[in-house]
Amino acid sequence: MDFPKSVEIIEVGPRDGFQSIKEWIPTELKLDIIDKLIESSFKKIEITSFVHPKAIPQMKDAKEVTQKLIQKYKNTDVEFVALVPNLFGAKVAYELGLREVTYVISASEAHNMANVKRTPAESFEGLRELREQLPDLRVNLAIATVFGCPYEGDISIEQVKWMVKQALHVEVESITLADTIGVANPLQMHAVLSELKKDFKNINFALHLHDTRGMGLANVLMALECGVNRFESALGGLGGCPFAPGAAGNIASEDLVNMLENMDIKTDIKLDKLLNTVKIVQEKIKPILTSHMAYVDSCSIGEK
Ligand code: ZN
Repeated sequence: MDFPKSVEIIEVGPRDGFQSIKEWIPTELKLDIIDKLIESSFKKIEITSFVHPKAIPQMKDAKEVTQKLIQKYKNTDVEFVALVPNLFGAKVAYELGLREVTYVISASEAHNMANVKRTPAESFEGLRELREQLPDLRVNLAIATVFGCPYEGDISIEQVKWMVKQALHVEVESITLADTIGVANPLQMHAVLSELKKDFKNINFALHLHDTRGMGLANVLMALECGVNRFESALGGLGGCPFAPGAAGNIASEDLVNMLENMDIKTDIKLDKLLNTVKIVQEKIKPILTSHMAYVDSCSIGEK
């Protein structure tokens, strides 16, 4: 087995996690949790999304969150990213000082329609315009529903390859493959990554995995074997997608860190600090957490 020596973990809890929580999380609490994630040594954090507040009310403080974080961390090596569904959102993010956004296009037409009311081809058109108008803004293209869609079921590998080719045309800086509803299994992971490697061997794909059916870390293991060394995860295993019925939490950052560090794969994340942050989330927001390490921590099992 040939695993990478180190892995980059991008924390997406403040976006993917918080957006799935209905009760309002005060802006100060969001900022406090992000501060603590930075203390846990995350270097890249998806902090919010610039979507219409009617679509996702939890993200209505996107401007304030972004402004305060950029101000506070301007002389550090911490990178902030926000999700944007369109050019309008990207412009707002850029004006606030963000220099990287995640732009989501779903491989499934039905899911893309539900998400942003456009076909994937129309979304790429929008992305092309975004690149023209904001050439200094780095774009991470997240391809959603790569491994399955709540509306269309299976997604063909040809469709995924078409998406990657479009992404290369518009010259995005990076591509993330998302298992939006947590249906991927390890064999499928292997099949998709091997197929993509044949045509796009120079692309270092990142993975965004949900643990809906408990296969998240098994998929990570398979992806590591296929050479993936960048993963998105959320503290506490928070997460979901408001436009993907049945989607549940992301893989929990602390479970991912724990597995990788035990396998001697460096993450640079301080697990104890991360677990303390999860504890704050648990006490103040009271979500249902699916994280194994948070459970271990709360029971003091395996006391060091
Ligand atoms: Zn997600």
